[in-house]
Amino acid sequence: MGRRGGQGLLSEADVEEAFGRLKAHMPGRTPTAKGPKDQKDAFRSVVACLLSAQSRDVNTAAATRALFALARTPRTMGALDEATIAAAIKPCGLYNMKARNIRRLCAFLLEEHGGTVPDTREGLMALPGIGRKCADIVMSFTFGADVIAVDTHVDRVCNRLGLTDARSAEETAHQLEERAPGWARKDGHFWLIQFGKAVCLSRRPRCETCVLNDLCLFFAGRRDAA
Ligand code: SF4
Repeated sequence: MGRRGGQGLLSEADVEEAFGRLKAHMPGRTPTAKGPKDQKDAFRSVVACLLSAQSRDVNTAAATRALFALARTPRTMGALDEATIAAAIKPCGLYNMKARNIRRLCAFLLEEHGGTVPDTREGLMALPGIGRKCADIVMSFTFGADVIAVDTHVDRVCNRLGLTDARSAEETAHQLEERAPGWARKDGHFWLIQFGKAVCLSRRPRCETCVLNDLCLFFAGRRDAA
């Protein structure tokens, strides 16, 4: 359900208004916000994010727990063989490919960065198995950068509402960087994700009572079609 790209954008004033209302109604970044899947450490954030691809939260959590029980640094994790890593992370799916990427990631960090995780988007995206979404999530949660990381909820809300008009999550991230007001970048991810989970639900968005429905392009389309 929902519009996706090529169907128009909100005006600059409406984008500002939409973020203002999100701010008023949704919790922002809390002092206890931790890295992906509750990992504060940069290396473990990157690994947890890599494991989360196409995996449900509960399965990612089980895989992360099992892997971090075996090793928690690039050196110790990189010393594990691929089969051992794959067996530990089996709950999260695509485990053979992810195990290979984890070993490549550890080797790359040790060879290129002395075992530390780079703190720039470009540096993170150069790591094996890490794309724009993971890079932005680590930038935002672990390094505290004012970046609106785009996960599935953020992507859905932005493109329904008309904050963006993108055909992929990566394009949504690009457009948000151009269109989100500066003051909304620190907490924008948190407002949008909470809003996507509480109001703009994937299957049954609560449009009738939504505080953004007078701005929303998806709702306008539904109204016109009714
Ligand atoms: S009106 Fe609100 S809940 Fe409905 S699609 Fe738009 S933003 Fe989502």
